[in-house]
Amino acid sequence: MVLFGPPGAGKGTQAQLLTERLKISHISSGDLFRHHLQAETPLGLKAADYMNRGVLVPDELTIDIALEKVMSISSDEGFILDGFPRNRLQAKALEEALQTRARDVDKVVYIDVPEDELLRRLAGRFVCRQCQAPHSLARGGTDGSPDRELICERCGGELYQRTDDRPEAVQTRIEVYKSETVPVLDFYRERDILANIPGVDTVEHINQRVLEALGL
Ligand code: AMP
Repeated sequence: MVLFGPPGAGKGTQAQLLTERLKISHISSGDLFRHHLQAETPLGLKAADYMNRGVLVPDELTIDIALEKVMSISSDEGFILDGFPRNRLQAKALEEALQTRARDVDKVVYIDVPEDELLRRLAGRFVCRQCQAPHSLARGGTDGSPDRELICERCGGELYQRTDDRPEAVQTRIEVYKSETVPVLDFYRERDILANIPGVDTVEHINQRVLEALGL
């Protein structure tokens, strides 16, 4: 399946819950790039500038690493894609690669969240350096800083704010999403596998809707 939606829709949070429940792999293209960046690989260094600006990393770099991961999963195992595909070319490349294994995307779940809510969420989003789990923190400090310790609730790792969740990059990411990524919805609508769910609710309720959309 593909988890689809704008930055800040909660794809990462839902992917984590689904992975735990369904025991299937979670493939996040953003996490793949951040791992490369942390390890300072040539790919990571090339991708860094695009990521920090909030624009898409070119397809020549993205499609190969995402598909390599997808194709490493055995044919009888499921997977959740998060952050890929992000344009029509990537969607087509994914479809063609899966067809070589007689597989296909079964469902695309689109988590729909209005723009003002995305801006609010991204301003308070912190991520664990170790396990990548996203956390939503209130900015209750007098200088707008988070009012709790920056420690991951899941693994105890250090929480940090992604450079591309800072206000300068967030607006760009939302614009890029609207112009380049939204057309992917039509690609999957044409294939009749798109499920649209409202994404402003508790994490648990949204998870229930995602599971319903998957027929579970
Ligand atoms: P994410 O964690 O999904 O928000 O991704 C963080 C950043 O990684 C994005 O803003 C892009 O710069 C880059 N990125 C992740 N996935 C893709 C993709 N499928 N195509 C192009 N760039 C991507």
